[in-house]
Amino acid sequence: MENNIKHMPTTNTQKQFFSLAPITIMLACSVFMLVYSVFQMLEINTVMLEAVEDLEHTTKIHSSIYRGITKRSNALLMLIETAENKSKAEKFVQTIENAKKTLLNDQLLCVHNKVTPINKIFVQQANMLDLYSSIEKEVLDLALQGKRKSALSLYSTRLLAHKEATLNQIITGSNFIRANSNKKIKAISDKVFYRILFYSFFNILLLGFSLYFSVQIFKKYISNNKRLISSTRVDLLTNLSNRLHLLEEINEQLTNYPHRSFAVAFIDIDYFKSINDIYGHALADSLLIDFGEKLSNQLKGLDYCLARFGGDEFVLLLKNINKHTIDTIMSDITKTVNTTYHPKEGKEIWLSSSIGVSLYPDDATSIEMLLHNSDLAMYQAKQDGRSCYRLFSSKLKSAIQAENDISLRLQTSLSNKENIFLVYQPLLNTKLHNVTDCEALLRWNDPKLGEIGPDTFISIAEKTNLIKAVNYFVIDEVCNQQVQWRKEGKKIIRVNINVAGNQKIFTASLKRLIGNIQKLKLAPSLFGIEITEHSLFEITPDTVNLLKTVNNMGIKISVDDFGTGYSSLLYLSKLPLTTLKIDKEFITNICNQEKDDTIILSIIKLGQALGLDIVAEGVETQRQYEYLKAHSCNVIQGYLFSKPVDANQLEYIDSSTFLKKKSNILIA
Ligand code: C2E
Ligand code: CA
Ligand code: CA
Repeated sequence: MENNIKHMPTTNTQKQFFSLAPITIMLACSVFMLVYSVFQMLEINTVMLEAVEDLEHTTKIHSSIYRGITKRSNALLMLIETAENKSKAEKFVQTIENAKKTLLNDQLLCVHNKVTPINKIFVQQANMLDLYSSIEKEVLDLALQGKRKSALSLYSTRLLAHKEATLNQIITGSNFIRANSNKKIKAISDKVFYRILFYSFFNILLLGFSLYFSVQIFKKYISNNKRLISSTRVDLLTNLSNRLHLLEEINEQLTNYPHRSFAVAFIDIDYFKSINDIYGHALADSLLIDFGEKLSNQLKGLDYCLARFGGDEFVLLLKNINKHTIDTIMSDITKTVNTTYHPKEGKEIWLSSSIGVSLYPDDATSIEMLLHNSDLAMYQAKQDGRSCYRLFSSKLKSAIQAENDISLRLQTSLSNKENIFLVYQPLLNTKLHNVTDCEALLRWNDPKLGEIGPDTFISIAEKTNLIKAVNYFVIDEVCNQQVQWRKEGKKIIRVNINVAGNQKIFTASLKRLIGNIQKLKLAPSLFGIEITEHSLFEITPDTVNLLKTVNNMGIKISVDDFGTGYSSLLYLSKLPLTTLKIDKEFITNICNQEKDDTIILSIIKLGQALGLDIVAEGVETQRQYEYLKAHSCNVIQGYLFSKPVDANQLEYIDSSTFLKKKSNILIA
């Protein structure tokens, strides 16, 4: 599950840094490259300028040498020819001296401009110029001495040859300087080229990184956005779909594939509220997550949408499912999810769920009705003992409608106190031969529906929370009856009241009873309460304390229908109980079913060991009575002794006349 991945917490600044870093690096690199390129250009430019200057100045010296030597050799030749003409000779000597001076100046200028490419070519060039000057001087001396022939011979043999060689040397020098400059420029451009290549590579690398990071950031942005969008369709606790998404999915099925059948299953975890109360929200939450995961795993391979509808309710849409396949799938699901869970180390919790299923198009054709019908089927599953699934049917629907009708009418009767009243069934103490207790039992005679048994309307009242009103009605009636008997000076008889409902209703009802007792100044010993084992299952520490208070006041506490529910020995030791009432099922089977006899005897022994009274209810036959008496069960309740009767008949039942009439019981 993606949600399970633990994310490092990232602060906003960190996020900003990560998103800006590649761009910043890219920008910095580009700026660096730009500056670097400009500097490299400037460097190339400088080197080129230097080279050009070198070339220019060298060319200047060379052309100066070239022109000077030519001028000087021409002047020298003219001098040899006209040496006897003194003034002419002086003019030529002057020309030679001037040319020398110009060359010297040009050389100085070049030196001043730092063009001093010193190497052997230039040394050789200087030597040759020196040699030329000395030969020139020799020729000049001979010419001035009038040795014309020798001068001419020296001139034409050595000086001219040397002039030629010097001029060649100059050309070589120029070529050298040109080559040297080219070499310099090439070296610098190569250097720049490789550097630019390196930085470009570096830049491309960075660009790659930047692109990679940008793509990552973009992807994250997209997925964040997607999550944001999908979070409106996801249940944040379980990561399953939420109500909205499920409704959309059902709607899509109805509009796009109206000819395909599908199923909608309403799944409600049993007793989840108690789990929440007992273990706390954190553990309950992790149970919900586990439950969702288990369910999703079971659905692998099916086309489905599973949503948490809120609290402990899940709704499952199974696409392409029909009435022939639904049973197998649902029984597999029920088997898988109704199991032991381990929400944390060392904790084992049994979870079961009640599931109701409705099918499209057989059961309904609209979202509302599909959900409504699967909800009804789920309630049926709860009623049938939970931990199972039920398919919706029209029979179920009419049964539920009938229940609704009963519930509404019962509510009216209770609030108007009409057609509803109490009868009292006495409990006979077979040892003392008297009646000290009776049980208040409700009767309801609806004008339209007729007489409806409490077994029917009590279970309906329990489902609709109307049971609170029932409890209050009975408690108030019994208290009023006790007041009435007190007024009439009748014999004191304890009335046992059946208190049903969940833990909250149960607590409220007990408080109501205590309040009434105090208000009406009645003796608490006039009252007893009967709780079924089923209610005990939900009892919490607070309720235990309340029961202790009730017990300390002197109100009797009986466990009703003992042996049929979650017979936990734990509550027998923890709760302040006074009586165990053996369920009438066991009594009916006395001497018929060996196993039931064993259970009865065990209950009697258990009660005796714990110091509890034992009451056998539903005693109908003499045989049952004798069996119970023989095994020290001394209080009996049943038709054999008396059916439930009106309040004013109780006195008669306790009278010696009646007891004599029932002498068969008493004699036995
Ligand atoms: P329960 O608390 O186990 O009450 C005993 C039931 O057994 C009563 O049925 C009583 O009439 C019946 N009974 C007594 N002796 C015999 C017998 O010898 N043979 C047979 N076959 N039945 C016998 P009832 O009055 O129909 O009540 C049925 C159930 O409805 C009660 O079972 C109790 O769970 C519930 N109930 C009745 N009145 C009230 C009430 O005022 N409040 C609550 N919360 N539940 C009530
Ligand atoms: Ca009872
Ligand atoms: Ca009972």
